[in-house]
Amino acid sequence: MPDYVIVGAGSAGCVLAARLSEDPSVEVLLIEAGGSDRHPNVKIPAAFQKQFKSRRDWDLATEPEPHCAGRSLYVPRGKGLGGSSSMNAMLYVRGHPLDYEKWAASGAEGWDWDGMRPYFLRAEDNARGDSEHHATGGPLRVEDERSPRRLTGDFLESCVTVGIPRSPDYNGTEQDGAALVQVTQRKGRRWSTADAYLRPAGKRRNLTVISGAQVLGLEIANGRATGVSYRRRGRKHVAAAGRDVILSAGAIGSPQLLMLSGIGPAEQLSDLGISAVQDLPGVGENLQDHPYQTSVWDVPGGGSLADAERPKAVLEYLLRRSGPLSSSVAEAFAFVRSKPGLAQPDLQFHFAPAYFVNNGFEEYDGHAITMGPALVSPRSRGWVRLRSADPSDKPRIQTNSLAEPEDVAALVAGARLAREIAAAEPFGSRLGRELLPGPDVATDQDLADDLRARVELLYHPVGTCRMGSDEDAVVDPELRVRGVDGLRVADASAFPLIPSGNTNAPTIAVAERAADVIAGKPLLREDTTGGTAAGE
Ligand SMILES: Cc1cc2nc3c(=O)[nH]c(=O)nc-3n(C[C@H](O)[C@H](O)[C@H](O)COP(=O)(O)OP(=O)(O)OC[C@H]3O[C@@H](n4cnc5c(N)ncnc54)[C@H](O)[C@@H]3O)c2cc1C
Repeated sequence: MPDYVIVGAGSAGCVLAARLSEDPSVEVLLIEAGGSDRHPNVKIPAAFQKQFKSRRDWDLATEPEPHCAGRSLYVPRGKGLGGSSSMNAMLYVRGHPLDYEKWAASGAEGWDWDGMRPYFLRAEDNARGDSEHHATGGPLRVEDERSPRRLTGDFLESCVTVGIPRSPDYNGTEQDGAALVQVTQRKGRRWSTADAYLRPAGKRRNLTVISGAQVLGLEIANGRATGVSYRRRGRKHVAAAGRDVILSAGAIGSPQLLMLSGIGPAEQLSDLGISAVQDLPGVGENLQDHPYQTSVWDVPGGGSLADAERPKAVLEYLLRRSGPLSSSVAEAFAFVRSKPGLAQPDLQFHFAPAYFVNNGFEEYDGHAITMGPALVSPRSRGWVRLRSADPSDKPRIQTNSLAEPEDVAALVAGARLAREIAAAEPFGSRLGRELLPGPDVATDQDLADDLRARVELLYHPVGTCRMGSDEDAVVDPELRVRGVDGLRVADASAFPLIPSGNTNAPTIAVAERAADVIAGKPLLREDTTGGTAAGE
């Protein structure tokens, strides 16, 4: 019998499987619903969007959002080895140190910046080399984009013209400023957690991976999780766990599995005919994601990623793994503050030398650039709930994005700043007409209405199995589900608050730390002299 059964081979699950199986005396079973990650749309960076609504996508969506003109927002989630790290845009962002101070202050004791930083570094193999802020030798390869477009350089210069400083490293001393992105790629190919962690550990005799197997629920006896049931090729199986079942099914999948197993808000569950094993009202609550707005300009002189699939670009990628196909589409960021007096940036501009509108589903006959300011600390909170007791039914999701006037105001300020950047040199003389929101959208009210009509999510759902020390928290700071023995949740759902940036690197760091917590190892912690020490 395996000691640990891990559900979900995504960003977190692959890390946990690899780290826990480093101890040869421990048996690990990793179960994943999806299949192989060998498709070119997984490996070729610029093709990530082609996975949307394919069999590698859970293809979820929110219920009509009350503050987004009643629209349902698309929620893609990776399905297959690597999970969402095999589908994401590969942007390597840790967030702001203050984010993790807030985690600890909210009750996630030990998960402050000094507790998290050593795990970001343990994971990392940064092509820029060892430095105060970066490490080499870890499993997760982080590189600079190989062929940023000239338009991306123009964006950075135009930011400087409007007073946004160039930042050498948004994961370094200061998050503020405009910078080229770093990406989880190796030599121009995606480097998911399946590449970084699972494949190197794959030959271990104490690690078994079962793919194409959807977990249906937990086996629970006398208040203890004893295993999981799963369906593979139409047949139902049970896998027993000697020590722990670890849910790493992501911010939608993990609360869904808890609720299907009777762990969650008892009243809601009983309405669906599920008898509660443990009444935990917090399960599925506290959903957070980053809303973002797109501002788009035509580029008469060309030079965007619209040429990425031309034969010359394909050849360049095949021969040298460079050129537009090695692009993560978003090639630069600007972290800015929408108003004075904020302790940290509240907007993260994603700059794409491409027309990227409506999740990339809309096409444009020409060249364009997109600036997408995302709100990094949204105030609104949403939820994930079951649609029915059937595990194959997609859950109900609501983010409540734009419920809070301050969130709307910050994004409206972002749209205005996008226009300033577009008007500043060198963009001023290179960009053509404003395509979106369009020159007629002029007043703050117009911009707010446009925002509600077009806002999208940045694919960063977190927080639905919140870690904390209070009674409403779903897991404690050791990631144990309250009231059920032998059960942990370790993935983006355990985040108490959404970090101020993209969520893959934070999920990997959480899983790295979770592996030490679960194995009972001494936890790494930054010491006061800036070094890293093992301690408690
Ligand atoms: C399109 C897209 C673009 C993104 N871009 C970026 C980016 O550029 N940078 C960044 O930092 N972040 C990005 N993200 C977010 C980031 O990838 C996620 O936050 C992170 O991968 C979450 O990790 P996780 O382990 O919590 O979940 P996941 O990686 O989603 O893993 C969950 C795994 O569990 C499996 N699973 C779920 N339910 C079951 C079940 N019942 N039975 C068996 N298996 C199950 C899933 O198939 C999946 O493999 C993006 C996400 C998406 C979808």
